Amino acid sequence: MSDTIERVKCLIIGSGPAGYTAAIYAARANMSPVLYQGTQPGGQLTTTNEVENFPGYPQGITGPEMMMELQAQAQRFEADIRDGWITKVDFSGDVHKVWVNDEKEIHCDTVIISTGASAKYLGLESEQKYLKLGGGVSACAVCDGFFYRNQEVVIVGAGDSACEEAHYLSKLCKKVTMLVRRDEFRASKIMAERVANTENIEILFNTETDEVIGDGQVVTAVRVYNNKTNEKHEIPATGFFVAIGHKPNTDIFKDYLDLDETGYIINKPGTAKTNVPGVFVSGDAADHVYRQAITAAGTGCMAALDAERYLAAKEATVEASAAV
Ligand SMILES: Cc1cc2nc3c(=O)[nH]c(=O)nc-3n(C[C@H](O)[C@H](O)[C@H](O)COP(=O)(O)OP(=O)(O)OC[C@H]3O[C@@H](n4cnc5c(N)ncnc54)[C@H](O)[C@@H]3O)c2cc1C
Repeated sequence: MSDTIERVKCLIIGSGPAGYTAAIYAARANMSPVLYQGTQPGGQLTTTNEVENFPGYPQGITGPEMMMELQAQAQRFEADIRDGWITKVDFSGDVHKVWVNDEKEIHCDTVIISTGASAKYLGLESEQKYLKLGGGVSACAVCDGFFYRNQEVVIVGAGDSACEEAHYLSKLCKKVTMLVRRDEFRASKIMAERVANTENIEILFNTETDEVIGDGQVVTAVRVYNNKTNEKHEIPATGFFVAIGHKPNTDIFKDYLDLDETGYIINKPGTAKTNVPGVFVSGDAADHVYRQAITAAGTGCMAALDAERYLAAKEATVEASAAV
């Protein structure tokens, strides 16, 4: 083996709640995990101000602070946390090969994928402005809906997730206006009907966002237009929710792992195992349903335990054959 190739027992890709939790468990199980953080150290939560639903923080905590604490906890057990982006993998053999920044090659006994997913946004300048300010734009109703109790909000989207999020918001907010680009939902009939039958949800078909309006700090209204008539009008709102889907960060694995039609990695039910022995998945990279920090952390724990058991079984087989 060349000097440039490093051998590791457990390589973790990604530094969100899933990756750091996997690192804590793997380090405490003596697996000497190496974790690559990627371009977003701390993951998606570093883009949010308040996290109020992660157990153990009765007063809430900011996303960046929480992620620094998770990192410190992993480092306390000597997890090796590194900068770097995984650019290529080869899972065709018994030893799994991973390349960092197209340069460094690592051979791994186990790999835990915790690369998360990215929420899709419309891309409007005003949307991005208030998203970055933390001033009323969100891609997660379950995470942020609570901050808009008894207020009026707008949600964009037409699929099952959008309907589910609109319905969730309707239980907290005074009024929810749902913008649907076409003249019908993409969602299943049952989900569309549930939204249509909810008193405080108003659905505007053939309607798109023109601009998110605010006072420079927070959202105050959304200007929309009818894409058939071009007529514009403003809807008063303090929250603007975007529910047009997520993109899992899994492109580099597609030649080796089973993915669903959106690109989510398919895990064996009730486990963190993928279709490749020794390769495990945790967090949003495999989860299009819950997409929460606590579920990501929970599956990070599962991935480390599954990896530890896989290694133990492999070592036992080697010992048994050596004894024959
Ligand atoms: C604005 C916002 C607010 C939210 N608020 C809440 C909340 O209040 N409560 C809650 O429970 N959830 C919240 N969520 C959801 C929560 O952030 C996610 O469910 C959670 O972060 C998923 O964790 P993860 O570890 O799977 O991945 P992520 O947090 O997405 O982390 C992915 C990691 O993988 C790395 N990565 C990706 N590709 C590579 C690669 N090729 N090589 C190396 N590294 C790579 C990235 O750099 C990143 O570190 C929020 C999400 C957003 C966007």
